[in-house]
Amino acid sequence: MKRKGRIRFPRKTVEKRILVAVIFFLVFGFFLACFLLTPKITLKGNLQEVVNVGSKYKEKGYKASYFKQNLNNMVIVKGKVNTKKQGVYSLYYSVKKGPFTAKAKRIVEVKDIEKPEITLKGEKDTKICPGTKYEEEGFEAKDNVDGDLTKEVKVKDAKDKIIYQVKDKSGNERKIVRTIVEKDDTPPMIELVDGENVFAYQGEGYQEAGYQAKDNCSGDVTNKVFITGEVDTNKLEDQTLTYEVMDEYENRQEVKRVVHIIHHNSPGTIYLTFDDGPKQGTTNVILDILKEENVKATFFVTGSGPDELIKREYDEGHTVGLHTYSHNYGTVYQSVDSYFKDLQAVHDRVQNITGYDSRIIRFPGGSSNTISKRYQQGLMTTLTKEVIARGYSYYDWNLESGDAGTLTSAEAIYQNVISHLSKNRVNMILMHDIKSYTRDALKKIIVYGKENGYHFEKITPQTEMMKQRINN
Ligand SMILES: [Zn+2]
Repeated sequence: MKRKGRIRFPRKTVEKRILVAVIFFLVFGFFLACFLLTPKITLKGNLQEVVNVGSKYKEKGYKASYFKQNLNNMVIVKGKVNTKKQGVYSLYYSVKKGPFTAKAKRIVEVKDIEKPEITLKGEKDTKICPGTKYEEEGFEAKDNVDGDLTKEVKVKDAKDKIIYQVKDKSGNERKIVRTIVEKDDTPPMIELVDGENVFAYQGEGYQEAGYQAKDNCSGDVTNKVFITGEVDTNKLEDQTLTYEVMDEYENRQEVKRVVHIIHHNSPGTIYLTFDDGPKQGTTNVILDILKEENVKATFFVTGSGPDELIKREYDEGHTVGLHTYSHNYGTVYQSVDSYFKDLQAVHDRVQNITGYDSRIIRFPGGSSNTISKRYQQGLMTTLTKEVIARGYSYYDWNLESGDAGTLTSAEAIYQNVISHLSKNRVNMILMHDIKSYTRDALKKIIVYGKENGYHFEKITPQTEMMKQRINN
């Protein structure tokens, strides 16, 4: 009888199968071993990178290891990326350990991905006068690869805006917009002939020096200027006129002019003026003498000397004028800015000590000095106008005591001064309160003046300026 349900393999077939399995495991084991024994390399960043032409390619790095050992410094990288030239570059990374090598590859594409730049001349948000057409102010287009693309720019006028478009050879497109609004919000400009500070003599007629007003949209609007304020030259004080104008879109402008009322210098007047101080030992004695004689004088002070002497000058009724802070020619006459910076410093010193906003100045070396030529041609021509425009008055002199030159004794200074005094004019005497012989000559000069019918005055904002001839 035959038995059922049982398959019987021939012995030979069984052996064959075992053999196949053994071989399979051996091969598998071999590859597994190879895999485990091969070092590992992985790339940081992307395996495919895109870099803008002309920029720098920055390698993102890699990580190479063998079990727990770091093999980064054994990695060899082959291939180069030339970012100056568009193209596709390959980088090959490999690391070797024993007979096993690990490899990786990165593809770097260098291409132009940068848009051209368009720069507009004029404003990006432009206002134009109502009812007018915008006139192109110009533009420029530049590309990192193609260079100047200005001629390639397409300009589209879309009524309230203008669209500028340009594409480079790689297809990168830039589009910018200039908006146009019909609106005038710019006020007119008023220009005053002779500036914002003018002078008129007491009791004499005031002549308006004139003005001009111009508007960006309305043009010449001089005839629309309205002046408020009146000049009464009988009043010996500063008077302000206001000039006002409006354009047709109600933009308003206003400027002010100060009319300084001054008096003619009366002949026979003596102005004692002292420069370069204050100084302890001389200025204080000079102040004592002036007090005894009840005479007022003018001090053109600097940054030197004690504060309390400036305070005394002011408190005792003298005029504190400004002579510059440093009194250093190389500093004050370096430039217009440099001069005003130095002047401001001494102005602020005086104001801090006395509370007085002094506008009375004397240039170091006088307005006729030539030393300023060393630093800037034509400087005094500019400065003498500019100080007045800024609300100052300057005073030179017409009588030198000699104390800054060759005379070094009180007697010599006294003789020099009295021999040059004149009843037919004003006598503005240049002296220096830092000199001992000036201090010692002062009493006799005052006594001589009083006995011979002169009268003494201090400079005030109403004193007519004393101007020498300008030589630079
Ligand atoms: Zn001086």
